[in-house]
Amino acid sequence: MAVAFNDLRRGIGQAQPALEAAALRVLRSGWFVLGDALTQFESTFAAYCGAADCVGMGNGTDAIELALRALGVVAGDRVACVANAGFYASTAVLAIGAQPQFVDIDPATLLLDVGQAQEAVRTRPKALVVTHLFGRLAPIEALLPLAMQFGVPVVEDCAQAHGAERQGMRAGAFGAIGCFSFYPTKNLGALGDGGACVTSDPSLAKRLRALRQYGWAGKYRIETAGGRNSRLDELQAALLSVRLPQLDAANGRRREIAARYAARIHQPAVALPGPAGADDVVHLYVLRSGCRDRLAAHLRARGIGCDVHYPVPDHRQPAYRERFASVALPQTERACAEVLSLPCFPELGDPEIDEVADVINAFDPAATGSARA
Ligand SMILES: *Cc1c(COP(=O)(O)O)cnc(C)c1O
Repeated sequence: MAVAFNDLRRGIGQAQPALEAAALRVLRSGWFVLGDALTQFESTFAAYCGAADCVGMGNGTDAIELALRALGVVAGDRVACVANAGFYASTAVLAIGAQPQFVDIDPATLLLDVGQAQEAVRTRPKALVVTHLFGRLAPIEALLPLAMQFGVPVVEDCAQAHGAERQGMRAGAFGAIGCFSFYPTKNLGALGDGGACVTSDPSLAKRLRALRQYGWAGKYRIETAGGRNSRLDELQAALLSVRLPQLDAANGRRREIAARYAARIHQPAVALPGPAGADDVVHLYVLRSGCRDRLAAHLRARGIGCDVHYPVPDHRQPAYRERFASVALPQTERACAEVLSLPCFPELGDPEIDEVADVINAFDPAATGSARA
C-alpha cells in the first residue's frame, strides 16, 4: 500500500460546503482586503491563543520580520535564533539587514538548547526568536526568565505549533509577540498563503498594524519606519475562521498518530521522538537515523512518502556559505544529517500508519553500504 506524505484534499473533506459558503460570502461582499472577515478571525484567533490581539499578515515569514521590526530591530542588529528550522527566521532577520546569531539545539528535542541560549542572550542580541519546531513547545518557561534578565525580547515562531499548550498557556502567548503561518500544510492552514502575529501589548499591536500597511498611521501618512505591504486577505481569513474550530480535534489526531508510530516502530536503526503531550501538536513526526538517506530510499521504493525537515542548516546554505563560514553548530549539523519526517496529517488512517511502521521495521540497516545506527 502506498502512503502519501501529505494529502491536502483529504484535509478539506467534510468542511468543503462550509468553506465554499465562506468563500462565496467574501465574493458577494465586494470587500477583499482589511474587512470584517479579517477582524473576526483576528479576534477569535487572539482569544484561542490567549493573547489580547492578533494582526493578520501575508505569511509567516513576514510575521516574523514585522514582529522583529515592531520590537525595534534594525539593520546591523543581532537576532538570536536556531539554524535547524528551514531558514524562515533567518530570511526575516536578513530582510531587515540584521544578523542572525545562531544558537545550537538540544539533540534530545531538536529545540533551542537552554544553556546555549543563555550564552547568546548574555551578549544582548536585539531579540531572541524561539522556534517551537515540529509542533513541540521549546523550553519557553526556562528561556523567558533568561531573556528577561538580559532585557532581550522573545519572539515565538509558532508556525508549526498552533494550539500547543503548556500549563494552560498556548503557543504565541508566552513571548512579546507570537508569529504564525497559515501555509496550507500547517496545523491551521489557509487555501493559500497567510500569517499572523499575536501579542498582548497594545503598543506592539499598533506598531504591527502600521507595519503591515506601509507604516501608515492613517491613509497615506507614514509614521512608522520599516513598513511593508503584508496583509491577510478577506478570503483566507474567512476560510481560516471555518477551520479554526476543528484545530483541537485535528491536533488530537496528530498526537494519536505519533503514539501509534511510537507503539509500532521497532527498528534499532532509528531513534523516535519523545512522547507527545499537550505541549506537542505533532506538526511533523520526525525520527533520527544514522542511515537516514538509505532508510528514506527504502521507504520511497515501497511507496511511502517521507521528507527531510530540514536537510541544510541555515549557516550552511549555499547563498550564505561565506558569510557564516566561521559558525559551528555541532548538534544542528548532526541533526540535519539524521532527521526524517514520516507521513503525519490528521486524515491519515490507522492502516496507513501501520504500513509505514511495518516498512520501517523491515528495513535492514546492514543490507547495503555501511551500517551506523
Ligand atoms: C512555515 C514556517 C514559517 C514560514 O511561514 P510562511 O508562511 O511559509 O512564510 C516560519 N517558521 C517555521 C518554523 C515554519 O515552519
